[in-house]
Amino acid sequence: MKILETPESLSNFRRHVPASQVVALVPTMGNLHAGHLALVQAARARADHVVVSIFVNPTQFGPGEDFERYPRTVSEDLALLEPLADSVVLPSVEAMYPGHVQGAEHTQIRVPATLANQLCGASRPGHFDGVATIVCKLFGMVQPHLAVFGRKDYQQLVVLRRMVADLNLPVRLQAVPTVREADGLAMSSRNGYLTPDERARAPTLYATLRQARTDILQAVESGRAITAGQVESTGVARLAEAGFDPDYFAVRTVGTLAPPGADPRAWILLGAARLGNTRLIDNLPIVDEAGD
Ligand code: AMP
Repeated sequence: MKILETPESLSNFRRHVPASQVVALVPTMGNLHAGHLALVQAARARADHVVVSIFVNPTQFGPGEDFERYPRTVSEDLALLEPLADSVVLPSVEAMYPGHVQGAEHTQIRVPATLANQLCGASRPGHFDGVATIVCKLFGMVQPHLAVFGRKDYQQLVVLRRMVADLNLPVRLQAVPTVREADGLAMSSRNGYLTPDERARAPTLYATLRQARTDILQAVESGRAITAGQVESTGVARLAEAGFDPDYFAVRTVGTLAPPGADPRAWILLGAARLGNTRLIDNLPIVDEAGD
């Protein structure tokens, strides 16, 4: 497994991958868990050369967010990747954004506001511009045929699909289902911030999404009307009752995150809520999406 730390070593590496090989990229911020490894396995199944990037990207964190305390566990990550990846991109902030720490400006992707300023973007201004920019830079460095992302970060997936379409980027995106703990909690590097008491309550976010889906399916089956607004306010109330500080519990159109239409089968439920200092997100489509 090759470790690539500078843009120069990367472009050098890319020249030596035979043109006939399919290259897949899995971008991560490290502190790898089984969710990340499912992405790497999906890449392995579809590509000859699997590249994993580990980079805690400062431009997607807002002031006061957890950039500084984000868990960095590079040697454990490399040990997990050794049997699965061919190359690991491990750049410094200075290599990715020369002069960033001193306040230098860089060219940025600007995600359409209707997509970027809702849901997680409403409380994290600039977050999706930062995500789109770093992923675009990684695409430029690695030049993958395929890039793999988790459905866990659903808005991110929609933003990146939109970027690839709008900028005509020659990369195919592959989405992977959310990997969960036995009690339903979506795996996340941020779960490590939870106290034992918070960890015990954390699965309620997913349980609340499932309960809302059940409510919707029962209403559809019995011919009862159910509105997105009812689903949202019930979801927020249930999260608050379970001790969360809800950020949103939202109904959107699956695939686009446009406002929900009349047919609940095209809906996706998305939730974000704080437990203490930890912000958790999760989502659940009403009908399972195709495995793309
Ligand atoms: P992160 O390191 O949190 O930036 O995540 C890197 C990639 O892993 C993103 O595409 C995430 O959507 C994906 N990912 C994170 N957690 C999970 C999970 N529990 N299941 C599936 N994919 C995940």
